[in-house]
Amino acid sequence: MMKVLKFGGTSLANAQRFESVLEICMNEKPTFIVVSAVAGVTNKLVEIVELLKADNQKEVRYLVDEITDIFIDIISESFLDFDFVEKSQLVLARYIIELKKCIKSKIIIENQILSCGELITSELLNLYFRYKNYSVELVAAEKIILLNKLGEPDEKLISSQIEKIIKGKSESIFLTQGFLCSDYLGNICTLGRGGSDLTASLIGSAINASEIQIWTDISGLQNNDPRYVNETFPIPELSYNEAAELAYFGAKILHPVCVLPAKNEDIPVRLKNTLKPFEKGTLINSNTKQKGIKSIAAKDGITIIKIKSARMLMSHGFLKRIFEIFDQFSTSVDVITTSEVAVSLTIDNLKNIDLIIDQLNTLGETEIIRNQIIICIVGEGLVTDSKSIRKILEAISDIPVQMVSLGGSKINVTVVVDSIYKNIILNELHERLMRISYVA
Ligand code: ADP
Ligand code: ASP
Ligand code: MG
Repeated sequence: MMKVLKFGGTSLANAQRFESVLEICMNEKPTFIVVSAVAGVTNKLVEIVELLKADNQKEVRYLVDEITDIFIDIISESFLDFDFVEKSQLVLARYIIELKKCIKSKIIIENQILSCGELITSELLNLYFRYKNYSVELVAAEKIILLNKLGEPDEKLISSQIEKIIKGKSESIFLTQGFLCSDYLGNICTLGRGGSDLTASLIGSAINASEIQIWTDISGLQNNDPRYVNETFPIPELSYNEAAELAYFGAKILHPVCVLPAKNEDIPVRLKNTLKPFEKGTLINSNTKQKGIKSIAAKDGITIIKIKSARMLMSHGFLKRIFEIFDQFSTSVDVITTSEVAVSLTIDNLKNIDLIIDQLNTLGETEIIRNQIIICIVGEGLVTDSKSIRKILEAISDIPVQMVSLGGSKINVTVVVDSIYKNIILNELHERLMRISYVA
């Protein structure tokens, strides 16, 4: 029974939470513990990088002090003896000196700066555990989470690295940093915001864990976005496909692609609340039986591109030529709708948008619509359930909808609207789909 437990930033936000994490670990008996940076730290590190790009050193110094204070508070509130406080402060000072060196460097070493949060958090938790007589082995994530030339996790290499580390240590408990990894040249880099979930899933899949547990500040994946909708509640069970769609389309509780490694090895993923460990949370696995609408999510930062064919009817090869352009600029497309003469599609990566539009203009007339969101309604069997489809269409009938996609997958319906309608549409869909279906 090998479990991987991942604790997010809010689960480690203060000394009391360090104690809760220790208690959860003692109960669950994990093989691997993955930790994110203490809440708020990565946001500040990202801000530092942005300020450095804008050459604003003064603000950077304030942010470094704020980060230092977050950790100092945890150390001093831990009520452990002087030796712990002294050792922790030394660890912290060592990393803050490194951070300051990175900041002074002539080139901006973004990944080194971003990595500080997880590195300090894991070292402090390691010390905390030691002073509480809970013995763990600290493993550098850079040594185990390795990317290939395409910048994707190299699952084979990850497995062999982890195997080397855990071989012959069946009784040991390992602690590592989420989010951090090494690129194929061995340079430190990161898995993108929220990437610690992916770290846990990659480790779980590598050791063929019995369960991956994601511990956060809410009791499981809710049936709508709790930041916009009141009275949401956790979904007891989800299939891998449902969870993957929801994570990809905006359910922030999970990193967009973290379900995949677990799904490939059929490892259950449990979402739990560090503040209320007795609550059941959500179980993601392959045995879910419950059909019907499960949850609604929203993905921000979407741009629609509309292309109208220069010819009267879409000629043979039109779609192929369009997608070759997106492929050439490594830009993935999320939602597509087509008519006889036009194609609408959405992207969220605007890095090469000007070059893409230049090329698309050679195929037809283009239009760009910015500040859109994708709303995604998810549930096994949803697409063939005409009652639910009718309710979705009713819910959006008063909102100017740019695109609707149904049938691309059996389990989701996506709607693209201007971001100003986010609150209205999430609440309207909740009212019609969630309240009624659960009251019945
Ligand atoms: P962590 O720091 O533990 O990784 P995150 O902030 O990444 O935590 O994820 C948890 C947050 O995700 C919740 O506090 C909640 O506000 C947000 N969230 C958005 N959509 C959902 C959803 N459908 N279910 C649960 N939480 C969601
Ligand atoms: N600390 C990183 C972030 O805030 C990774 C994570 O929390 O999963 O994005
Ligand atoms: Mg997260």
